[in-house]
Amino acid sequence: MKRTSRISELREIISSEKKRGRKIALVPTMGFLHRGHLSLIEQAKQTDAFVVLSIFVNPLQFGPNEDLSRYPRDLERDAHLVEEAGVDVVFHPSVEEMYPRPMLTFVEVGELDRVLCGSSRPGHFRGVATVVSKLFNIVQPDMAFFGQKDYQQYLIIERMVKDLSLPIEICPVPIIREEDGLAMSSRNIYLTAEQRLEALVLSKSLNEAERSIHGGQRSAREIERQIREKITLESHGVIDYVEVRDAGSLSDVTDIQSPVLLALAVKFGTTRLIDNKVVEVEQNV
Ligand code: AMP
Repeated sequence: MKRTSRISELREIISSEKKRGRKIALVPTMGFLHRGHLSLIEQAKQTDAFVVLSIFVNPLQFGPNEDLSRYPRDLERDAHLVEEAGVDVVFHPSVEEMYPRPMLTFVEVGELDRVLCGSSRPGHFRGVATVVSKLFNIVQPDMAFFGQKDYQQYLIIERMVKDLSLPIEICPVPIIREEDGLAMSSRNIYLTAEQRLEALVLSKSLNEAERSIHGGQRSAREIERQIREKITLESHGVIDYVEVRDAGSLSDVTDIQSPVLLALAVKFGTTRLIDNKVVEVEQNV
């Protein structure tokens, strides 16, 4: 496995692979890898492409009071993990390499970036769309893999690629969970043992809501109320949002008829966790 922190070196590696006819698959990450990331790599490997994994904790997507400086990092451990997983090259640029001068150019995907995490983290998705565009321009991948753990991010990138006619296939990968249901996240390491236990209420409340929809509940507000109630009763988590939205457009839903996204963000102490579930609805005939 190759490793580089230089854009120019990565471009040389990729251009020689392209000359040999290889397709290129990109897996963008912020590192401190877990099985969720490994599942993205597995999917990328299945395409037979040359797999590029990037590790970059992108300052542009963190707000002033967020966890940029304490975000967990362990490059050596990550490099070992991805070598075993069969990644072909790890790209781990410094902040100076990615942003050698103050950025004046940004990519914004309107509307989709205003709701859910976009309203509680202003500027977050502008930072994400900008760094992903930069990575796309550096790597020029044929396909790129994104986890549905960050469902809104996946939709935003998919829309960006369509709007800008980028010749890249965006491949979504299902959420990987711990055995007890907690969605895997690099941030889970911040949780105390007690918070870790309480955080199980997130996946449980989503599962319960899904059962409720399958049982015939069609009111989006009632589903939101049920999820909120369970989280409030069974944990000390502080709810940022709990929302039912259209799974394709993220628009408001009142009456649940087409696939919906159940999305939530909840703070346990200083740790903000997100989780979601897409629920298909059987059409009434
Ligand atoms: P991050 O390092 O948190 O920026 O995540 C990098 C990529 O891995 C993103 O596309 C995430 O959606 C994806 N990812 C993170 N956690 C999970 C998970 N538990 N299951 C599936 N994909 C994930």
